[in-house]
Amino acid sequence: MVYMDYVSGCPVDERVIEVMLKYLKHPGNPSSVHSLGLEARNAVEQARNEVASLINADSSEIVFTSGATEANNLALIGYVMRNKSKGKHIVVSSIEHISIINTAKYLQKVGFDVSFVPVDSYGKVRIDELENSLRDDTILVSIQHANPEIGTIQDIEKIRDVVSASLHVDATASLGKIEVDVEKLGVDLLTISSNDIYGPRGVGGLYIRKGVRVNPIILGGGQEKGIRSGTENVAGIVGFGKAAEIAKQEWKGEAERLKKLRDKLINGLLKIEETFLNGHPKDRLPNNVSVRFNYVEGESILLSLDMENIQASTGSACTSKTLQPSHVLMALGLKHEEAHGSVLFTLGKENDEKDVNYVLEKVPKIIERLRMMSPLYRR
Ligand code: PMP
Repeated sequence: MVYMDYVSGCPVDERVIEVMLKYLKHPGNPSSVHSLGLEARNAVEQARNEVASLINADSSEIVFTSGATEANNLALIGYVMRNKSKGKHIVVSSIEHISIINTAKYLQKVGFDVSFVPVDSYGKVRIDELENSLRDDTILVSIQHANPEIGTIQDIEKIRDVVSASLHVDATASLGKIEVDVEKLGVDLLTISSNDIYGPRGVGGLYIRKGVRVNPIILGGGQEKGIRSGTENVAGIVGFGKAAEIAKQEWKGEAERLKKLRDKLINGLLKIEETFLNGHPKDRLPNNVSVRFNYVEGESILLSLDMENIQASTGSACTSKTLQPSHVLMALGLKHEEAHGSVLFTLGKENDEKDVNYVLEKVPKIIERLRMMSPLYRR
């Protein structure tokens, strides 16, 4: 198996599983006053410290959620509901994850104004367009740190310079791959997720800068300082904490290793005629290889790859239920058929040079065979 679909799911690190096991069996509820409750509370708070430390935040600024989707919903809905007396306009980029795009559309329906800012052909947010979209009543701007589908990294510090409203950044795709430092980025709210750093699924968090106020979107017993009710997912949170601790020590070395594999794979694939790179050539995630092959269809390539025991994807697994071409690829200005011919290889811990060589041996043959069958292809 050559698994190159880390964007859709990462294997949980063995060291993470080991610490989680104790809390899967542990009955303590962090809200209970007895000693087992206290033990669970301490484990959650230790995890909060580890997660905060990875992004250079204070632990009091982290709220645990069920993942990045919930954190993005909390950031947008929670922020605008709390701050709507200051304005009703928000700005998001046109290549945000679907959990931002659909939340922004929901806010439009309930009376907020939303501007969707375009990107250039590499997927960089057009800062001039962003500036033009800002209004006196803009209360929140939400721009992702990096795009999981095309790998493009945004210049958040430059964006921060032009935005005086609160700034939310979805760092799900960048955490553990490039530096994520809430002070350097100057963000007010930041979304993070556990599985993307080899922690368990179904856990994530929202960084909320001290002094920034958000309303809860899940109401109940007032856990997580009243911002996210519901009994804490103790084992999941403990796993997220361990994954953050490991990521802090290892991300730099791993990013350097992956960059070499990424560049070898990109260079090899681009040797196939009429093959192009999606996203930015330099400002891109160290593990992202998104390419498009003219005249062939991404889904057919994936099935052929799977028959050779290579797992990749065509884009976000979250939107694969719709047959629409990816909104991210369309926002780059690609034609429908170009977007449909795209394949995304995302590398991770278990990949090595042998894997890259194997993919580079198989892909040209697959593309050649599919093009021979394609009515669009003329030699
Ligand atoms: N934001 C980004 C940038 C993502 O890539 C994803 C998917 N991993 C999400 C949000 C949503 O994550 P989840 O499905 O874990 O809630």
